[in-house]
Amino acid sequence: MILHVDMDAYYASVEERDRPELVGLPLIVGGSRTGRGVVAAANYVARKYGIRSAMPAAKAFRLCPQLISVSPRMQHYSTISQQIREIFFRFTPLVEPLSLDEAFLDVTGCQALFGTGPEIARKIKSAIFDETGLIASVGVAPNKFLAKIASDLQKPDGLVIVDPNRIEDFLNPLPVGRMWGVGKVTGTILDSMGVETIGDLRRVDPEILNQCFGSQGIHFHKLSQGIDNRKVIPDREAKSISHERTFETDITDRQALRAWTLELSDLVARRLRQHSLKGRTIQLKIRFSDFRTITRSYSLPEATNATDVIWKIAAELLDAAIPEQHSGIRLLGVGVHQFERKKKVQLSLFACDAVSDSDKKQQRLDSVADEIKDKFGLASLSRGSGIRHHQDQKKDVAGD
Ligand SMILES: [Mg+2]
Repeated sequence: MILHVDMDAYYASVEERDRPELVGLPLIVGGSRTGRGVVAAANYVARKYGIRSAMPAAKAFRLCPQLISVSPRMQHYSTISQQIREIFFRFTPLVEPLSLDEAFLDVTGCQALFGTGPEIARKIKSAIFDETGLIASVGVAPNKFLAKIASDLQKPDGLVIVDPNRIEDFLNPLPVGRMWGVGKVTGTILDSMGVETIGDLRRVDPEILNQCFGSQGIHFHKLSQGIDNRKVIPDREAKSISHERTFETDITDRQALRAWTLELSDLVARRLRQHSLKGRTIQLKIRFSDFRTITRSYSLPEATNATDVIWKIAAELLDAAIPEQHSGIRLLGVGVHQFERKKKVQLSLFACDAVSDSDKKQQRLDSVADEIKDKFGLASLSRGSGIRHHQDQKKDVAGD
C-alpha cells in the first residue's frame, strides 16, 4: 500500500501562510516584474490566469499585470519540508522524497498499527495541517504509479483512493498525458496514433510501442495496465542519486547541452552533499529524438560529491557520446552511484593528507554555493562556465 503525498502549491502556500495579507491575490514565487527569471511556484489564484511553474516571469506578468511576485526562500521551505518529513516518519520509515514537497510512503507494514491506507492518509493530512498550517493532497494506491496519478486528481486538498479491484476502470478515462514520463513529444506521437486515454494505450500492441519508443514503450504499456513494481526507496538506502530533464523541444546545440549537464550535475552533487554521500561512478543518460536511449559511465579512483568533478566527467561523456551530426536530444540525465558511506568519508577526512588542498578548496566553494542557492534559488549563481541554456525549455521530470 503506497501513499503519494504532494503539498498544494507548496512555495506559494508557505508565503501565504506567513503573510496572510497575500491570501486571495495572484501570487508567484520567483521571477520579477522586469521579466527576469522563471516562476518557481504559483498560487491557485494566479493559476486561474493560466500561470504555471517553469513559465518565464515576463509571460506571467503579461497574463496578469496585477500579479505579485516574492523571492524564493529555499532554506525556509527546506526547514518546513523537514518538519513534514518528520510527520511521515511517525507512520513509516519507508519514505522516498521526490522533492521538497512530494514523497512516496510505503505503509504496507504499519496498517496494523495505524489503520488502513486511507486512514493513514487522513491522519497525515490533518497532522500536516495542524502542525504547519499547510495543505497536502494524497493518493492511496497499490503502487507508486497509481498513487502519483491519484494525488494529482483532486487538487487542492485532494484525497483519492484507488480501489485495487478496479484499477482499469480508474485508468481508462484518464488522458495519457497524466502518465509519468509522457511529455509533449510522446503525447503528440501517441495522439497521431489515435491514443488519447490510458485505456486507449492499453489496447495498442506493445510491439508497436516498442518500435516507436523503445523499451520505454513497453514500460508505458505495463503502466497502462496499472502494473508498476518499483519499490519505495528511502534516500539513506538509495544506491544512486540522479536527476534528469526532458526538454520541450529536442536540443542539438552542444553548448546548451553542456549547460544542462552542469545544472544536472549540480543538482545531483547538492543532494549527495545534503546526505553526506560520495560516489565513485558518474553516469550520463541520453535519449535521442528517435527515443534511442544510451548510458555512459566512468568510475573515479576516489569517491566525490564535488559539482566540478561530476560535471567535468559528465561533460566528457557527453562529448564522446554524441556524434557530430545528430537529430537532437530529448532527455539528459546525470547520476552518481557506487557510494562510499559516511563512515568511510569521515575517515578519509580525518586522514588529512588524503584530502589535497585543491579538494579542500573545492569543498569550501561547494558549501558556499549551496548556501547562496538555498537563500536565493538555483538560478542565482552560475559557476563561471559562461554557458547558459534557456530556462523556458525546462520541463520537470521526477528524478529517482
Ligand atoms: Mg506539489
